[in-house]
Amino acid sequence: MSKLICLGIESTAHTFSIGIVTENEEILADEKSTYKPSLGKGIVPHEARDHHEKVKKKILEEALRKVNLNLENIDIISYSAGPGLPPSLLVGANFALEFANKYRKTLIPVNHPCAHIEIGKLKTNAKDPVLVYLSGGNTQIIAYAEGYYRIFGETEDMPIGNALDVAARKLGLPMPGGPEIEKLAKKGKYVELPYIVKGMDLSFSGIVTAAGEKFKRGARPEDIAYSIQETCFAMLTEVTERALAHTGKEDVLLVGGVAANKRLQEMLRTMCQERGANFFVVPQVYSGDCGSMIAWTGLLAYKHKKIPKIKDKILPKWRIDQVPWFQT
Ligand code: AMP
Ligand code: MG
Repeated sequence: MSKLICLGIESTAHTFSIGIVTENEEILADEKSTYKPSLGKGIVPHEARDHHEKVKKKILEEALRKVNLNLENIDIISYSAGPGLPPSLLVGANFALEFANKYRKTLIPVNHPCAHIEIGKLKTNAKDPVLVYLSGGNTQIIAYAEGYYRIFGETEDMPIGNALDVAARKLGLPMPGGPEIEKLAKKGKYVELPYIVKGMDLSFSGIVTAAGEKFKRGARPEDIAYSIQETCFAMLTEVTERALAHTGKEDVLLVGGVAANKRLQEMLRTMCQERGANFFVVPQVYSGDCGSMIAWTGLLAYKHKKIPKIKDKILPKWRIDQVPWFQT
């Protein structure tokens, strides 16, 4: 019997990507193009949409060429249905719908955070971990319990990736700001910033404001970069440790674009070592938004009979704890 092949489309925010995976856990293709806002700006939603519209055909052709297949040979089509920016989401959803109808393929809406988690689990040996999901648009500490990924803690305002991007812009650095802050922080010293953890939730916007004020009053950019990282990452480590204690789980898995940060990895790893827990991090090639994570998660949903039933083709505020799921 031939193995199932799934094509996945990602388009929640800045990245348009198409991945092709098999049920044998092979990632055959993962093509992407990322919209870059001009200096000093965040994502402008209609510009991101225009970018995705412009590149979608080329990305599809490149992905299919890589695997030497055409759409008829694909068994399942999945797409990122949310959460995300509506104009961006619609590009991917409509593209997926078009091909699913034309070639009569099963169409699977995928929850984007769930896909970040599943690609992390696929690429590491983490078993039933506490999930630390940190990206440009999301910040959540998650663990699986009784049929759902449950959110144990989350940001009350800005996601951490966005906080780093906004702070970077205040310092005059280009987007994406996270890697720029990481580089600059290596030369920095600590200046005081607020530390805001409320129960299991976190807040970053006050820290970014305070950092901007300190910078305006003459603090060195490298000191701001260092202090933002130390403060925000310590907050995230504190909440993750509490989630471990509360759930009794033994593994931690770090996923999402911010997972690439070495200082964050170091802080979480040290905390895990001190508690006798195991620390895992998604490989950097799969830490940012990519089509292969959507394809893999679509395939899992199909095989485990957990295809999400959704009323609209996109759900810009879709939460992972609304998706009936299973433990992989
Ligand atoms: P995502 O939304 O998952 O695609 O992740 C994008 C976010 O990850 C952006 O906010 C980036 O600034 C952030 N990011 C990427 N690399 C790093 C890094 N090395 N350190 C901190 N943040 C990062
Ligand atoms: Mg993402």
